[in-house]
Amino acid sequence: SKTTIAVLHGGRSGEHEVSLRSAASIMDGLRDVGQYEVLPVFISREGIWTLEGVRVAILPEPGIGGLYVLEGEKAGEVIPVDVVFPVLHGTYGEDGTVQGLLELARIPYVGAGVPGSAIGMDKILMKAGLLAAGLPVGPYLWFTVADWEENKKQLLKQIEEELAFPCFVKPANLGSSVGISKAYDSAQLEKAINEALQYDRRVLVEKMLTGCEIECSVLGNDRPEASVPGEIIPCNDFYDYSAKYLDDNSGLEIPAKLAPETIKKVREMAVQTFIALDCAGLGRVDFFVDEKTGEMWIIEINTLPGFTSISMYPKLWEASGISFNELLQKLVKLALERFSQKE
Ligand code: ADP
Ligand code: MG
Ligand code: MG
Repeated sequence: SKTTIAVLHGGRSGEHEVSLRSAASIMDGLRDVGQYEVLPVFISREGIWTLEGVRVAILPEPGIGGLYVLEGEKAGEVIPVDVVFPVLHGTYGEDGTVQGLLELARIPYVGAGVPGSAIGMDKILMKAGLLAAGLPVGPYLWFTVADWEENKKQLLKQIEEELAFPCFVKPANLGSSVGISKAYDSAQLEKAINEALQYDRRVLVEKMLTGCEIECSVLGNDRPEASVPGEIIPCNDFYDYSAKYLDDNSGLEIPAKLAPETIKKVREMAVQTFIALDCAGLGRVDFFVDEKTGEMWIIEINTLPGFTSISMYPKLWEASGISFNELLQKLVKLALERFSQKE
């Protein structure tokens, strides 16, 4: 019999649209494989879950094992689900919240568990985790809205002295470059911080890193493997929201043109990052690599990276010998494997 996969898509984050695109590719791929029954579960911006227009929910009690129908003819029935694929980017999906619900419900799901998802979404905790594992992270500072309100002048001075201009200002929890600015002077810095504070109570400011932007895909559970790395060639000043999704002039160079030793190091560090942050299933680790100075920094991991057929994550696996559909099959297997380990 077929394995039933509920594909969660849309969601409450600013990356709702991106999720719809990833999910369309993933659902096409899963259907293509033939051995799966796909249940497209749409989550509205307000957080309402529907399956083909009918409201459904996952209940936190273990043992129900599926989508509980909330309305219509089948109200009160349960549609069984073998695996959930949360194709959600950003808050309320990539950050451990949906993962927590699925843990309570005891339904296997693709990707990292609660801690890995939460840490992967929080750029401040992520950096702390990477530094604790001895992995290279660029210079940065972070503060809360309360710090900012009380010590604005001092913080601006400290940022200017320790990080210099231009620097990057980011809300702690987000993705797709939403709320991120590159500040070239103190007026822009102040504006950028106020902007980032629209999205989160915690903000980080990073020194500008040099070199090229390199990404590496990781796949697996306890013995994860890394793909060949790729390079991002942003069409804007940095890889902002419009360079990622609106303007198709950004380029991907696959594989990245790096020295073999650099490639080896990137792949090792991608795996180390995945393990250090307690990830599972999949993750894309993003770097800055400066071959002139030999320096290398980890910018972040994305535990549910963009996943259209032209996205970096599947493209890097394709270049490493794993097709899009094979990749989906492996992810479903990894989800089931992780769940059976816990029983
Ligand atoms: P997101 O999770 O939203 O993708 P990132 O931390 O990856 O946030 O930042 C988005 C983009 O901003 C990166 O892809 C890169 O182009 C640029 N960027 C971020 N931090 C730095 C930095 N410290 N130095 C140089 N460029 C950066
Ligand atoms: Mg990110
Ligand atoms: Mg990023």
